[in-house]
Amino acid sequence: MSDYRLYVVPSGPLKTNTIVLDCGGDVLVFDPAGAGVIPYLRLSKSVRVFLTHGHWDHIIGIPLLGVDEVFVHQADAPMLTDPLLNMSLKGLGVPITVSVNTTPVEEGLFRWCDGSFRVMHVPGHTPGSVAYIFNDFAIVGDFIFPDGVGRTDMPGGSMQALRGSLRKFLAEIPKDLPLYPGHGDVFTLAQWPKRK
Ligand SMILES: [Zn+2]
Ligand SMILES: [Zn+2]
Repeated sequence: MSDYRLYVVPSGPLKTNTIVLDCGGDVLVFDPAGAGVIPYLRLSKSVRVFLTHGHWDHIIGIPLLGVDEVFVHQADAPMLTDPLLNMSLKGLGVPITVSVNTTPVEEGLFRWCDGSFRVMHVPGHTPGSVAYIFNDFAIVGDFIFPDGVGRTDMPGGSMQALRGSLRKFLAEIPKDLPLYPGHGDVFTLAQWPKRK
């Protein structure tokens, strides 16, 4: 991949990590969670939005970006329009729905910035959780955190599925690859899981 910039912008009530990748104005936004990313998009030529999963705190900022399409795994697409599934009723106390077209992301390679990144399906936290794996870092959403794995007690969650995802992830991801979780600091598998 040629030159790009990466920005981590903790946003919204749960300080969700919104991540902006800018390759000469070809901008990807992951998990828009608030208005904090807007200044990073000023010089963009195109903006595409990708979701690691469909929980409310990862989608609440979508309407602020003026996009009419988001990329999300099809198993999580229903969460955008269902406040019970996206946990906003329970977690925020206010129903959040987002009406945009959804384009399914599937396992495989996605071209960007003279190169590509890989989509890995990592169900468990939600059925449609995915990780976005680049040459020199990965964006992992709420699947895995510095001190453990994501919750599996919400609608569509499955500890069994998460165990399978973790096996695959640990087998395939280099130990020194920086991982950006949905909340908190970047980490690597070399010191995982870190005790609190
Ligand atoms: Zn989540
Ligand atoms: Zn989250």
